[in-house]
Amino acid sequence: VQLTNTQTRDVEALLHPYTNAVTHRATGAHVIERGEGVYVYDDQGNRFLEGMAGLWCCGLGFGDEELIEVAQAQMAKLPYYHLFGGRSHEPAIELAEKIKDLAPGMSRVFYQSSGSEANETQIKLAWYYNNAMGRPDKKKIISRVKGYHGVSIVSASLTGLPYNHKGFDLPVDRIHHTSTPHYFRGAHEGETELEFSTRLAHELEQMILAEGPDTVAAFIAEPVMGAGGVIVPPSGYFEAIGPVLAKYDILCIADEVICGFGRTGEWFGSQRLGMQPTSMSMAKQLTGGYVPLSAVAINADMASVIEGYSGEIGTLGHGFTYGGHPLGCAVGSAAIDIMRRRDIPAHVRSLEGEFQRRLRTYSDNPLVGEARGVGLLGALELTPGGRGTFDPVGKVGAFMAAELLKNGVILRAAGDSIVFCPPMTITADEVEELFAPIENCLNATLHWAKS
Ligand code: PLP
Repeated sequence: VQLTNTQTRDVEALLHPYTNAVTHRATGAHVIERGEGVYVYDDQGNRFLEGMAGLWCCGLGFGDEELIEVAQAQMAKLPYYHLFGGRSHEPAIELAEKIKDLAPGMSRVFYQSSGSEANETQIKLAWYYNNAMGRPDKKKIISRVKGYHGVSIVSASLTGLPYNHKGFDLPVDRIHHTSTPHYFRGAHEGETELEFSTRLAHELEQMILAEGPDTVAAFIAEPVMGAGGVIVPPSGYFEAIGPVLAKYDILCIADEVICGFGRTGEWFGSQRLGMQPTSMSMAKQLTGGYVPLSAVAINADMASVIEGYSGEIGTLGHGFTYGGHPLGCAVGSAAIDIMRRRDIPAHVRSLEGEFQRRLRTYSDNPLVGEARGVGLLGALELTPGGRGTFDPVGKVGAFMAAELLKNGVILRAAGDSIVFCPPMTITADEVEELFAPIENCLNATLHWAKS
């Protein structure tokens, strides 16, 4: 391939995240120039339906005029301020109030810039909380295989995907992973979803007992696993997990970075999936993805213990320069106003039936092992038949994503699952357009996989 001038400059200047630098150097970057509604345009003038809302974040699509105006006005009025040492600003307060209104049981909000930093904050607050409670040994965290919680040292350790550990000497100690709640892959022959959920809750309890309940601080989970391949838990899963956590006084952290703000048809995925968190991590759709901002919301018990302890030891020694950036808070606040006005959770529910039905029509395709999803999240897991798996070296998922791109649709491969997370503002016609090339691309991929 002859690289364009821009592609040459790209390979000479950038080290790309989640990219094989060797193949990238040969194939060159796909350079995106602008976005409008559910579409993005590349530097060659080609239009693509963005079926992943960027990286699961542009829930309100591209080019929303209201968000742009709010950002411009905030930039002019107060482009930077912080919340350290008791300083504050109106956009931070207003957004925290709106988050509290939406998030059941949450009492205080702490800001960062990214999802990784939110989960890093979660773990530090869990440790701080247990020190305050006089339980200095209660520090271990249980997360799940295939969970995705970020890439900083602790959040990457929470993440349960091999490629986030490989080459980095991770995970760090104190972090343990329990099984993925994936019925299609994990259930025994003849086991019902409820039985599978009960078994996973039992496995979690055994892990807690083996580690020692007095050493386990928190459990962290995405209501629906995103980057692990859009894995919707089996019925009764969080209902079975919840009592185990309560029994051993273990905090329950909901990582709502993808599921938050309407994605599953409720404001938060934990509401849709029956999870009862003691704290929540939010990012991505919080600002429609327009400005980096994340938030950790904690319940009243954690808030009072943490606030009291900061008084006792002198300070809460944690905070980021850009945590609660006025631009992010102003845009987040406007994004919540828009989502409320347009009732985005109801819009998602109104499209969910057709979206999920369309997805499941591919269940019969010989390449599709499982079609799954909830709300406007979905996945087609590609297999060589039944529950088999392709050799990962073949990168069947990546081939299919490249085929889709040729046909004007951007979707991602999470392993060999093709994952869907379109802007939540998508219309019924645009949903049709998103699915239009799937059948042909599945057939082309099947043909390629066989050869
Ligand atoms: N948590 C979840 C559920 C995510 O999907 C992600 C990113 O995809 C993160 C955390 C990390 O967020 P960030 O990439 O902003 O650090």
